[in-house]
Amino acid sequence: MADFDFDLFVIGGGSGGVRAGRMAAQRGARVALAEVAAMGGTCVNLGCIPKKLYSYAAHFAESFEESHGFGWVGEAPVLNWDTLKFNRAREISRLNGIYGQLLKSAGVHVINGWATLAGAHTVEVGGQHYSAKNILIATGGKPSTPEVPGCEHVISSNEIFDLSPFPQRLLVVGGGYIACEFASIFNGLGASVTQLYRGHQVLRGFDDEVRGFIAGEMVKSGVKLHLNTDVAAIERTDAGLQVRLLDGSHITVDAVLYATGRVPLVAGLGLEAAGVRQGKAGAIEVNEQYQTSVPSIYALGDVTARVQLTPVALAEAMVVVDALFGPPEGKQPRGMSYDFIPTAVFTHPNIGTVGYSQADAIEKFGKVTVYRSDFKALKHTLSGSTERTLMKLIVEDATDRVVGLHMVGADAGEIVQGFAVAMKAGATKAIFDSTIGIHPTMAEEFVTMR
Ligand code: FAD
Ligand code: NDP
Repeated sequence: MADFDFDLFVIGGGSGGVRAGRMAAQRGARVALAEVAAMGGTCVNLGCIPKKLYSYAAHFAESFEESHGFGWVGEAPVLNWDTLKFNRAREISRLNGIYGQLLKSAGVHVINGWATLAGAHTVEVGGQHYSAKNILIATGGKPSTPEVPGCEHVISSNEIFDLSPFPQRLLVVGGGYIACEFASIFNGLGASVTQLYRGHQVLRGFDDEVRGFIAGEMVKSGVKLHLNTDVAAIERTDAGLQVRLLDGSHITVDAVLYATGRVPLVAGLGLEAAGVRQGKAGAIEVNEQYQTSVPSIYALGDVTARVQLTPVALAEAMVVVDALFGPPEGKQPRGMSYDFIPTAVFTHPNIGTVGYSQADAIEKFGKVTVYRSDFKALKHTLSGSTERTLMKLIVEDATDRVVGLHMVGADAGEIVQGFAVAMKAGATKAIFDSTIGIHPTMAEEFVTMR
C-alpha cells in the first residue's frame, strides 16, 4: 500500500464521490478527491437542492390564492426573480463550503481540476500524476439533447436556474422527471408554460393511473400539455423563439427547455485507454461491488446509469467503502438492493411512489388487489382549489404483501418515505389495516383503505 500516493482516488465530488471519499477517510484510508466544478455535484448545484428551493417558491403562488378562503385578504405579492436567484445562489455556495469542509475535516486531499485516468492505478490532474491503490469514478451525468434544427437556441436544466430575464413564455420538451417538475415550477412562478411530450402520457414507467392523474392536475393548474408531438424546428425571431411542431403548428416562447434525459459523463476520462468496459451511452459497467472491468477501478452513481437518484449514489458509495476498507466494527459489509426504492417527482402536486406499478405488479405477481382513493383534501374544502389527491395500494394476493404504493398529492414525497420502510420490511395489507391512522391527515388514508 505504501507504494501508492493514496489508498483511494475519487474522481468527482458529487453525491456519490463525496460520500465515498469522506467515509473511506474516516475508516483511516488515505484519500484524494478531484472535482472540476463546485463541490457537491449535480444534486447540490444544478439538481435536487436548487430545484426544491424553486419548487417551494412556486408553491407560494397557490398558497396566496388559497388563503382567501381561510379569511386572508389583500393582493398577492409578486415574484422578484432576481431575489430568488440570488438567495438560491447564496444557499448553494454555503452548501459548497460545507461539503468542502466535510472532506477537509475527514482528512481528504481535495484537488481542483479535471481528472483523467492514466492507468489502472494512476490519475492525472492538471499535468500532475497521482498513484492510488484504487480509483473510484463518480463523475455523474449531463443533459442529453437531440439534434433538431435550431437546437442551438435551447437550454437544459443546467441553465434554467439562472435564466435572465424570467421566461414569461416557456416551452418544456420531455415527459420525464425534469420536464414535469420544471413545467410545474415555472407555471407556479407565473410563466405561461407549454409542455410537449412525444408519447401518449408523461412519466413513462410510473403507474398508469398516476401518470394520467398528475397530467390532469398539471393541466388544471395551467400547464398546456401537448402529447404525441415533438419539435420540428426552432427559429429565433423578433417575437421570441418560434417553435414549429411536427403537426405544422407554431408556438412562440422566450425559452425552450429540453429535458430529454441525461447521459453518463465519460468523455475525456481516458476510460478506453485504461480498458474500462462501457455499455449503452457510455455507462460504465460494474459488478455488485461497483468494480469495473479493471479490478482496481470502481464506478458508481449516474456514470453507471442505473437508478439516477442521489440517495442511490450515497448507498452505492457505502457499498464501495465497505468492500474496499471493510465494514464498521461488528457490522456486515453492505450490499445494495434496487427493490422498493422510493422516489418523488416534485410536480405540483407531488408524486410519491414506492414499489411496483399496477401493470408491473400484475406481470410479476399475477393476481393482485388494488385499493385506491381519489379525494379532495380537507384543506381544499375552504381553499377553493379543485386539486384532488390520488392514493393507491397494490397488494399481492398470494402473500397479502403490499408491493406498490403510490400517491399524487401535497407532500407525497414526505408521506411515502415512511411507508417505504414498512414495505422494505415486507408489510402486508393486514399490517397496514391494523395500523392506527393519524387523524386528520391525508396519510391516514393508506391505513384505512378497504
Ligand atoms: P454528480 O452529483 O453529478 O457528481 C459528479 C461530479 O463529478 C460533478 O461535480 C462533476 O463536476 C464532477 N466531475 C465530472 N467529471 C470529472 C472529472 N473528469 N474530473 C473531476 N471532476 C469531474 N435526485 C434525487 O434523488 N432527488 C431529486 O430531487 C433530484 N432532482 C434532480 C434535479 C435535476 C435538475 C437533476 C439534473 C438531477 C436530479 N436528481 C435528483 C438526480 C441527482 O442529482 C443525481 O442522481 C446525483 O447527483 C448523482 O450523483 P453522482 O455522484 O453520481 O454524480
Ligand atoms: P427522464 O429519463 O426521466 O425523462 C426523459 C424524457 O425525455 C422522457 O419523457 C423521454 O421520453 C424524453 N425523451 C428522450 N429522448 C427524447 C428525444 N430525442 N426527443 C423527445 N423526447 C425525448 O430524464 P430527465 O432528464 O427528466 O431526468 C434524468 C434523471 O434524473 C431521471 O431519470 C431521474 O433519475 C433523475 N431526476 C430525479 C428527480 C427526482 O428524484 N425528483 C428529479 C429530476 C431528475 P420517453 O419516455 O418516450 O423515452
